[in-house]
Amino acid sequence: MPEGDTVFLAGKMLDRALAGRTLSRTDFRHPALATADLTGRQVLGVGTVGKHLFTRFSGELSLHSHLKMDGTWEIYRAGARWRHPAHHMRVVLADARVQAVGFRLHDLELLPTGEESRLVGHLGPDLLDPQWTDEHTALAAAALAADPARELGLALLDQRVMAGVGNLYKCEICFLLGVTPWVPVSEVDTAKAVALARKLLLANAWRHEQVTTGDLARGRRTWVYERTRAGCHRCGGPVRVGTQGTDVRRRPTWYCPRCQRGPAPAE
Ligand SMILES: [Zn+2]
Repeated sequence: MPEGDTVFLAGKMLDRALAGRTLSRTDFRHPALATADLTGRQVLGVGTVGKHLFTRFSGELSLHSHLKMDGTWEIYRAGARWRHPAHHMRVVLADARVQAVGFRLHDLELLPTGEESRLVGHLGPDLLDPQWTDEHTALAAAALAADPARELGLALLDQRVMAGVGNLYKCEICFLLGVTPWVPVSEVDTAKAVALARKLLLANAWRHEQVTTGDLARGRRTWVYERTRAGCHRCGGPVRVGTQGTDVRRRPTWYCPRCQRGPAPAE
């Protein structure tokens, strides 16, 4: 699942590739956008809010996309072969030299740029907002604490609390706080949880690897996330995995019973 930093990096990559270009070809494979044509419009830039991407065009128009679990934006030279099957293509934005192709994108919508907040106004503070202040930390910490009985892991994933945490950071933040993802929120210092979330996302915003241990070597990047075989990166003990959340929000959730106190699902 793409985390906020993955989306942020995708946005930066798209912005570098597209900003200033005037589109000579666009293609949309999405029922609501089947007839849309942005030919002749200039790309003004690409911005992200949490996990939401906005590609902005001349004429006050924005294209919203969300990567969800499997979406991706890629840049190709004109005429280059795509690395994904054509039937996964949802959007092509191209000029004579470059094409940006979005595969398996979700929640695609063209809307007036001034109405972007309609899609992201419900989100908590964006952890990668360059204008972040202590006030944002306080807001997110209060939102996190608002439902004290809620499982910490679920609250961390709630984009209305703060925008940007996905399953990897959820597991790792809980590890670094020394509690399992199933503890009630009331058990932790929520300001500390927010500060940790921001620190981890910022540390990874400009690289493709997601590292929470400070060690970029393969197999040493996380404390417990996806370490069922390797064991806990701190104590070497067995890492367990349980599921957290219901229905579409179910996520495999890793933890170390030795380093993290608190409840966990029965084996
Ligand atoms: Zn451990």
